[in-house]
Amino acid sequence: MPINRREFMSTVATGVAVAAAPLAARTDEEDQKSAVAAPPSGLADPAFRPLPLGAVRPAGWLQRQLRIQADGLSGHLDEFWPDVAKSKWFGGEAEGWERAPYWLDGAIPLAWLLDDEPMKARITKYIDHIVTHQRADGWYSPYPEDAVAKRYDLWAILLANKVLVQYHELTGDARVLQAVEKSLRAMHAGLDRTPLYEWGKFRWYEGLVPVFYVWERTREPWLLELAHKLRAQGVDFEALFATEDLALPTPRRGLWKWTKHVVNTAMATKAAALGWRLDRRPGDRAFATKMIDVLDRYHGQVNGMFSGDECLAGRNPLQGTELCAVVEFMYSLEHLFSVFGDPAFADRLERVAFNALPATFSPDMWCHQYDQQVNQVQVTLNPEHQFTTNGPESNLYGLEPNFGCCTANMHQGWPKFLAHLWMKTPDEGIVAAAYAPSRAQFTSRGTPVAVSLDTDYPFRETLTITVKADKAARFPLVLRVPAWTRGATVRVAGGPEQPMKPGTLHRLERLWDGSVEVVVHFPMKVKATTRYNEALAIERGPLVYSLKIGEQWTRVNADKPHRELPHADFEVRPATDWNYGLIVDPKRPEASVRFEERPVGEKPFSPDGAGMVAKARGRKLPNWKLLRGWAAEVSPADVAWANPGRDSTEPVEEVTLIPYGCTNIRITEFPRTRG
Ligand SMILES: [Zn+2]
Repeated sequence: MPINRREFMSTVATGVAVAAAPLAARTDEEDQKSAVAAPPSGLADPAFRPLPLGAVRPAGWLQRQLRIQADGLSGHLDEFWPDVAKSKWFGGEAEGWERAPYWLDGAIPLAWLLDDEPMKARITKYIDHIVTHQRADGWYSPYPEDAVAKRYDLWAILLANKVLVQYHELTGDARVLQAVEKSLRAMHAGLDRTPLYEWGKFRWYEGLVPVFYVWERTREPWLLELAHKLRAQGVDFEALFATEDLALPTPRRGLWKWTKHVVNTAMATKAAALGWRLDRRPGDRAFATKMIDVLDRYHGQVNGMFSGDECLAGRNPLQGTELCAVVEFMYSLEHLFSVFGDPAFADRLERVAFNALPATFSPDMWCHQYDQQVNQVQVTLNPEHQFTTNGPESNLYGLEPNFGCCTANMHQGWPKFLAHLWMKTPDEGIVAAAYAPSRAQFTSRGTPVAVSLDTDYPFRETLTITVKADKAARFPLVLRVPAWTRGATVRVAGGPEQPMKPGTLHRLERLWDGSVEVVVHFPMKVKATTRYNEALAIERGPLVYSLKIGEQWTRVNADKPHRELPHADFEVRPATDWNYGLIVDPKRPEASVRFEERPVGEKPFSPDGAGMVAKARGRKLPNWKLLRGWAAEVSPADVAWANPGRDSTEPVEEVTLIPYGCTNIRITEFPRTRG
């Protein structure tokens, strides 16, 4: 078991039986010991097990956000976009590869977690088609009849099975589980004839998700043989990271490389976690953290992502990150926290979910970008762009800017985030992995328990959790305490405030009887971090703050197919000045940045719906202009703070910052200027 039992032992105080102990992450050494003792033919348990899909439901702003999503592109793509609407997977003649399964991967949890009956009805029809048209040899119908004998990349099948098990978990439709099992058998035989290559080889671990799901329900030994085969034939990322020179950004307008592909990389961050469940390889746990550290060091972006447009491209805030990488990194972090139980993975998940994810959609979620930029003062059809391998449309808000993969794959972000907010502990309790308004149901030793979280976090510091057990039951409620907070407290049933240690899992074990309120406070302190070219970024709690810029939206590409409103393409240009330097002392940012609460809007991630606004002081930098359609880079030599002779003589002004995720265009990494 990945949790150290000693850490779980509680010291029960008199009166209110509450025990709190931070949980320590296990070490590779402990893995090595358990690897010897572990049965050779089983899967290691994850530290925390996600609740069955459907057991966590949205509330508050997250409910509104999912509704916006279902009323936008996610809930309608299958009605008009040929690559889904007429997919070969559903009996049509359009694309028969990854696009329909990608859409289903997000649309299935979205429809069921919202109980959206029309979406559910359409999806059921599509799944019926996939299952009833599977061939007797186990191959799904879009693959050619000779697939059993010829060489075909298995990626779309790895993906489809991952999608189908979600449907099975939500509906219990036994035909679907049988179809997945049949497909996995065909794959097991097929891999001996044609080992993994290309996409399948770089994404082998996605195949473990359905293999583990079926194994946990059937305990068929051949499934674990298949899992070992996938791992053996797939890319070894630990070896790759030791050999590939990841410090080098892909040159602008450079070379597309499998090994630096940002989506592959984001997906692969969970390879060590899934692989560890299979064979507890010593080093998997440490490598999972190391892989992200390396990506941060050379390609890290303040929004929680690493750059990739669409290959890893350095720390420059202009370079951008592809949307597929954002949703895939979130899904990887959900697995990493579940398997290894390290709260740092869930801190990171929130950072991506509350910043990079919402920023890259229009507030109504009808339009998305291919690449979002941290410093993005305008998004235009730009032939002078400096993306590495992406094209001039890449940062437009639109239907399928640059390439349609994100159009198909973007839907999983919010629904899977919701599904992973709460997980079960190995001792029948529940852990709050990430925080957003939600309701969860689980059973603790047979007793049904409902947990609700009411909050406007991440726009507020206070979270109210209500635990209702059907009958009195003893179990732990484990709270993730973010590493960025100081002075965090928890108060149980109106009792005294107890301190909680940042960066730990805080355990509350008691007899839960009736309805018990747990009030959590995570103080958020403003931070100014120094980034690329010595620029400053303003952060507070899990949110990054950006300059609020007036926007002018212009419709483009109206002559292209399927660009009827509301799923059209748009450029956005600044309607107000963006070229400000900030007057902030990074050691005492609280002295010059002031935060004001606002109601969280109907559209929580929109410039006017921002639930928190910051006021800071800055000056315009007249020499800071557009270059090739983007905000020019400001080199360290031009940073006025370091070079007083070059400082701006413009008047000091108050500037408004809003959460990065609420912006459509923005400056996030600011040059420093003098007060
Ligand atoms: Zn994409």
